[in-house]
Amino acid sequence: MSRFLSNELSKLAPYVPGEQPQDKKYIKLNTNESPFAPSDEVIKALNKEEVSKLNLYSDPEAKNLIKAAANYYNIEENYIIAGNGSDEILAFIFKAFFNSNKGVACPEISYGFYPVFCNLFNIKYISVPLKEDFSIDVNDYANICDNVVIANPNAQTGIKLSFNDIKKLVSQSSERLVVIDEAYVDFGAESAVPLIKEFDNLIVVSTMSKSRSLAGARVGFAFANSSLIADLNTVKFSFNPYNINRLSMIAAQKALEDREYFKFCVNEIIKNREFIVDFLKEEGFKVLPSSANFVLAETNVISGENLYLKLKEEGVLVRHFKDEKINNFIRITIGSLEEMKIFAQKVKKIIEEYKI
Ligand SMILES: *Cc1c(COP(=O)(O)O)cnc(C)c1O
Repeated sequence: MSRFLSNELSKLAPYVPGEQPQDKKYIKLNTNESPFAPSDEVIKALNKEEVSKLNLYSDPEAKNLIKAAANYYNIEENYIIAGNGSDEILAFIFKAFFNSNKGVACPEISYGFYPVFCNLFNIKYISVPLKEDFSIDVNDYANICDNVVIANPNAQTGIKLSFNDIKKLVSQSSERLVVIDEAYVDFGAESAVPLIKEFDNLIVVSTMSKSRSLAGARVGFAFANSSLIADLNTVKFSFNPYNINRLSMIAAQKALEDREYFKFCVNEIIKNREFIVDFLKEEGFKVLPSSANFVLAETNVISGENLYLKLKEEGVLVRHFKDEKINNFIRITIGSLEEMKIFAQKVKKIIEEYKI
């Protein structure tokens, strides 16, 4: 820490992303990326002509991109804002709407960035316990006056809330905002986007990083009532008006338009998830019921941390979290069937060694 860092930030504990090793080639099942390349339409569109326009700024209103999102989600354009990844969108939301008096309540296990943003922006943070089975009970939020941020399906557990539960949560109080982070919704949950017409206290966040194979392009969205979107634009234009670069804008637009490839990828992930869940259960693992592109699993044969380390030695990267409640688990991103088979073979080998 330098002697110049502002006092306010001296205790900031930054978000720790999953490893992105650039040296050795791993089977990468640790950061919930798609194993599939972006749509061919994306690859075709990022041509010489577009690259040669990089001397010009990108569209600060992201019109073509937002039009593509409006089309896909069947919602008017003034109900949408686009960001440099949904992380940026979340930052805009936290900055715009939450503070040290009226803060944010989140499930105790969820996306690690939520408490980090609270720290960065001096926002009150409340951790709400999960049920014994790691699920969220929306009734636990009924008496909370602070705003609520929940990922659906939930991050790290993969467990989803139903559309009716989301509706119930939003209806509990019109005096607080509810943010539903739908990073994983395409893999098996129902989107709450249609509810934004009915509720002016709901924001739905989505990303192109997981189900659309564009993690490296950094594009995300928020969907909400037009006055909430206007507020988010005020923050955006006070921070970084050209927040999405030209090439990412085109990539995301083309990915949204190619519905067939999107469906293919999502279906493959769901099939491969079933394959790996069956395998893990056969090997005696406890596996949480996932509706996402990852599963959280534990065994009593080897600790989560050791299994993570052993797999890494074998060239397979998974994610291990130190949070007490899930520190015996590993989180496995669903990859291609080939990757899942290699993962299964390595796990089998490690388990055999440890049983003796
Ligand atoms: C991956 C993820 C994000 C971040 O997505 P980006 O669009 O890549 O910034 C946000 N929320 C949750 C729950 C995620 O899992």
